[in-house]
Amino acid sequence: MFARPAIRMRCATGLLAIGILLMLGGCGEELKPSVLEQVKAEGELRVITRNSPATYFQDRNGDTGFEYELAKRFATDLGLELKIETADNLGSLFAGLGRPNGPVLAAAGLVETPARQSQARFSVPYLEVTPQVVYRQGQPRPTKAADLVGKRILVLAGSSHAEQLAALKLEVPELSFEESDAVEVVDLLRMVDEGQIDLTLVDSNELAMNQVYFPNVRVAFDLGDANRMRWAVAPGDDDSLLQEANAFLQRAEANGTLQRLKERYYGHVDVLGYVGAYTFAQHLQKRLPRYEQMFRQAGRSHQVDWRLLAAMGYQESLWQPTATSKTGVRGLMMLTQRTAQSVGVSNRLDPKQSIEGGARYFIQVHSQLPESIREPDRTWFALAAYNIGGGHLEDARRLTEAEGLDPNKWLDVQKILPRLAQKQWYSKTRYGYARGGEPVHFVRNIRRYYDILTWVTQPQLEGTQVAESGVHLPGIDERRPEDETPPL
Ligand code: GLU
Repeated sequence: MFARPAIRMRCATGLLAIGILLMLGGCGEELKPSVLEQVKAEGELRVITRNSPATYFQDRNGDTGFEYELAKRFATDLGLELKIETADNLGSLFAGLGRPNGPVLAAAGLVETPARQSQARFSVPYLEVTPQVVYRQGQPRPTKAADLVGKRILVLAGSSHAEQLAALKLEVPELSFEESDAVEVVDLLRMVDEGQIDLTLVDSNELAMNQVYFPNVRVAFDLGDANRMRWAVAPGDDDSLLQEANAFLQRAEANGTLQRLKERYYGHVDVLGYVGAYTFAQHLQKRLPRYEQMFRQAGRSHQVDWRLLAAMGYQESLWQPTATSKTGVRGLMMLTQRTAQSVGVSNRLDPKQSIEGGARYFIQVHSQLPESIREPDRTWFALAAYNIGGGHLEDARRLTEAEGLDPNKWLDVQKILPRLAQKQWYSKTRYGYARGGEPVHFVRNIRRYYDILTWVTQPQLEGTQVAESGVHLPGIDERRPEDETPPL
């Protein structure tokens, strides 16, 4: 769009003068476009980050991650394309920031540290975290700095944690620790989980989101004070981009964007509870492998992402093929007798049949929804209908419309669904009373498990939990349209 970078306003006092100065190559320093002007002229915001579940990675819908989502919104606000670069380690991340024509912003779960003062300048904070010492359950739990002595401790090279341990070593000289630039935080946690190292030090947000993958990992204690994550720009005195970033982050805090992203990316433990998170992690390792091939097979035959089916199976029975309930539903996918018959399941307690039948039923429900409900909402509606029945869901959609909300948006309909349990509302509906709150939890939990399963099948976690890489199937597993980004 721009033929040449815009020039600074203070230089632009007289057009004629500028023209002459430009021709003469004058105005010296004053003519140098600011970083912000440069990126605007180029039309892209180049951001460097780490490829990790806590920052940036690929999921079933493409690029995602807390830092990615936040940076994407910043780029959009500036009217720019986001261009992501990943650094192999923290050293090359900061080096990248200073590279000519390189990234102009680092968004990588970074905290400001004394050693980094010369490497970067930091934005206002957007996330409060606590450094936590992590150990393996079953081992003696360290409770204070002195307990770290004699343990094998590994942290990311050049990380805030390496710096923190180095500072601690001045007080506790017997302390020793190692740094590696060949690993990510998920590797450190896995190494603790598997007993390859005794301890590591990670940020509380990273632990909260990864707890569900590593059942043996436990917090020993918080080491030191809370820290704050910030974006970083190259050293120097050009504040133009940093000021924009600060203003954006302050807006994101004020309008709830940050809160939603935190809940989505770091909120597993909040949603599942600590016990739920440990239990899920255990079941992921012990139970899922027995049924994974069946989910994959059913996914292939019905063109559904197998991880969605697996998430449904977990919600229904915690992956237990002989699960039964008082209401007469049975098996891994908890089918009623009637549903089982309608989808050709002769033995509900046979996990293969149950999964296959559940997938078939889900696809039926999915295809019967009104055309007006588009993906990804269509999947969430199908799950709700699977849980509560299409009639009740239709009632809730009508009530939603009557409220002036959108009956094709899950975010709107889920607000109204609980009303089906209140007489003042259900007395006006066609199908009457229903436990309308249930499908809301059902869908929310499944989405959470689905997200986790998606993360587990990311390259950086590959091989730790689920044997094969995820098959990306077409069909309902469509890319999320841009306006749908916040089912957050
Ligand atoms: N927050 C860390 C840092 O600023 C990186 C992630 C970690 O080591 O947990 O270095």
